[in-house]
Amino acid sequence: MLPGIQIEAPYASEDSDFVELFPGSSAPGFFAWTVPLDEKVSRIGLALEPGIACKSGNGENSPLSYLEKLLHSNPHVKARYAGGMTDFVVGGIPIGPQEKTFSDGVLLAGDAAGQTKPTSGGGIYTGAFAAKIAGKVAAEAALGGDTSARRLSEYDRLWRKGLAKELDIGMKIHDYMGKLEDTQLNELIGSLNTPSILNMITEYGDMDHPSVLMRKLMFSGNSLRLMKAFGTFLKTLF
Ligand SMILES: Cc1cc2nc3c(=O)[nH]c(=O)nc-3n(C[C@H](O)[C@H](O)[C@H](O)COP(=O)(O)OP(=O)(O)OC[C@H]3O[C@@H](n4cnc5c(N)ncnc54)[C@H](O)[C@@H]3O)c2cc1C
Repeated sequence: MLPGIQIEAPYASEDSDFVELFPGSSAPGFFAWTVPLDEKVSRIGLALEPGIACKSGNGENSPLSYLEKLLHSNPHVKARYAGGMTDFVVGGIPIGPQEKTFSDGVLLAGDAAGQTKPTSGGGIYTGAFAAKIAGKVAAEAALGGDTSARRLSEYDRLWRKGLAKELDIGMKIHDYMGKLEDTQLNELIGSLNTPSILNMITEYGDMDHPSVLMRKLMFSGNSLRLMKAFGTFLKTLF
C-alpha cells in the first residue's frame, strides 16, 4: 500500500497539455506528479514506497514532507507554484492484486481487489473494467439463485483474463524503476531521448497498457540501445 498525497493548487504549467513526472529522490520508490487542470491550476502529488514513510516516526519521511520539499525546494516546481491550495487528498494506493477476489456472496473490485496499475497508481480505469464484469457475474448469479464462491469464481477468471498480464508487467516495471538511483534514472531517460524512440512513445504510449509500448520498443531498430539502458530487465518482461 503506497501512501499518497495530492493537492489542487495554483500552478503555472509550462504546457497544460502535458503532465510532469518526477521519479527518483523526489518520491522514493514511486514518483511525484503535476497534472494540469488548465494553464493556471494543477493537481500536484506523489506516492512513496511504504517502507520509506514508516522509517521515521517524526514525520520526516512522510508524504507531506516530500510534498513540501517538492513545492518549495524543487526549482522547476517552486518557480511555478503560487502557494496555497483548493483541495487536499490523502490515501493509500494498493499495488498488486489480491490472490482471491471472490467468496460466498462476495466479490472484490477496484482498490479492494488491488486492481490499480503498478506503474501509475491509477485505479479508475482498471477498477471500472473489473466492476463491469463483477456486476454482470453478480446479476447472473443472483438471478440463477447461486451466489456460491464456485459460481462467483467466474468473475475472478474473467477480470484476470483482461487485466492480469498488464498488471504483472506493470509490477515488474514498478519494482525495477523503484530501485534506481537518480543518476541511473537520468541515464535511462536520457537514452530514450532520440527522435525515433520519442515518436514511438508518442504513437504507442498508453497509460493503461504499458506493455504495448515496451513490446514495440523492444522489437524496433532501437533494441540494442534499449538493451544497453535496461540490461537484462527487458528480457524478464515477456
Ligand atoms: C493521491 C491519489 C491520487 C490518485 N490519482 C489517480 C488518478 O489520477 N487516476 C486514477 O485512475 N487513479 C488515481 N488514484 C487511485 C484512485 O483514486 C483509486 O484507484 C480509485 O478511487 C479506487 O476506486 P474504488 O471505488 O475501488 O475505491 P474508493 O474510491 O476508495 O471507494 C470506496 C468507497 O467505499 C466507501 N466505504 C469504505 N468502507 C465502507 C463501508 N464499510 N461501508 C460503506 N462504504 C464504505 C468509501 O467511503 C469510498 O467511498 C489516486 C489515488 C490517490 C490516493
